[in-house]
Amino acid sequence: MKKFHILFVALLSIASLQAQTDTRLYDIINSVSAERIENDVTKLANFGTRHTLSDTVSQTRGIGAARRWIKSEFDKISTDCNDCLEVFYQKDLIKKGDNARIVHDVWIVNVVAIKRGTKYPNRFIIMSGDIDSRVSDPTNFTSDSPGANDNASGMAGTIEAARVLSKYNFESSIIFVGLSGEEQGLYGGKGLAAYAKKHQWDIVGILNNDMIGNITGVDGVVSNRDFRIFSEPVPPTETEEERNARRFYGGEVDGISRQLARYVYTTTKTYMPEMNPMLIYRLDRFGRGGHHRPFNDAGFAGVRIMEAHENYTQQHQDIRVEDGIAYGDKLEHVNFEYAKKLTSVNAISLASIAWGPPAPETVEIGGIVEPYAKLRWSKVDGAVGYKIYWRDTTSPTWDNFRYVGDVTEHTLKGIVIDNFFFGVAAVGKDGHESPVVFPNKIFR
Ligand SMILES: [Zn+2]
Repeated sequence: MKKFHILFVALLSIASLQAQTDTRLYDIINSVSAERIENDVTKLANFGTRHTLSDTVSQTRGIGAARRWIKSEFDKISTDCNDCLEVFYQKDLIKKGDNARIVHDVWIVNVVAIKRGTKYPNRFIIMSGDIDSRVSDPTNFTSDSPGANDNASGMAGTIEAARVLSKYNFESSIIFVGLSGEEQGLYGGKGLAAYAKKHQWDIVGILNNDMIGNITGVDGVVSNRDFRIFSEPVPPTETEEERNARRFYGGEVDGISRQLARYVYTTTKTYMPEMNPMLIYRLDRFGRGGHHRPFNDAGFAGVRIMEAHENYTQQHQDIRVEDGIAYGDKLEHVNFEYAKKLTSVNAISLASIAWGPPAPETVEIGGIVEPYAKLRWSKVDGAVGYKIYWRDTTSPTWDNFRYVGDVTEHTLKGIVIDNFFFGVAAVGKDGHESPVVFPNKIFR
């Protein structure tokens, strides 16, 4: 009996150390429902317009009705899980003329739902979609503006991820949020990022979902597998000292948002190999914006997850037919099975991060003019071990790793520091990892 027990423990620890996959993540993927996403996108599109400056009094039309409905959905999810969500409005008053798109005073109201972590309640990973919509003229707040793909799809995905993940407990907190004022100048993200700073939230990052339902591109490509993860190279908040250090030690493609993007990429490749995630090495589309940016501006990691093949005749358009082309962001253009897949991508990334330990705060690297690379890092409470990652300097992804166990330093013999980039991640007991930390200190 005792022998068996020892063997069992040994097997368990081998299994947990070598675990590449956690079967709960497959359950999560399977639980996401295209049908519920379709119902929610339909509901949102049927509010007529969700323009940020639209009616707030009607029960059936305008952004007021839309945000009350979103809150009621989060409340319902919470009721079904013994009040496991903290649901509230977070709002800021923006005065007329703040920019040209704010043509009257308006409350920018976000709807927030927090699934509080059991071990790190003040550590947050965020999933966002947008509440608001627009037509051709960004100040037109009365015309019909269904915004089915932009961005009822991202909003519905966020609600659905909350439904699925509410069935589990996580060590870190997960926030599901509907942001407002996106089309008027990224106001909702700005407001929530400021709120997070004020309340000293420890934010791992935000997965901003903006248009996750279109598979028929204006370029003629139809794909329900491709999607994009946009991330900026380095934080705009970096200091002059950090910028100078990059010239000598590298890191120009290794900022915190980029590591979060790689995390989503790797989690997708591991658990949803049928999907084709594209790491796009830029903040957002050419000259265009999204709600992860205000979080980046505040020094937080943040990425944009979206379809790969956009259709511009269905974005920010008055509903009309012109030269035989049907313009407008209507329900019929949304592919709900695809929105379900991208929702799953989010849900497994959130779960993996929230089940994983925090990342090491400091990672130091040394090995100048030596035939090896040396790494040491700060210990993470809750980590069972660490992985050292490295890659060719031209590779977009962390292609090599070594699991080094529960230690705080390791030397990679025979690996010359000049020829690779390196990073360290903390590993938790179920095999979930923190995002990789690029070295932030040098030693000799
Ligand atoms: Zn838009």
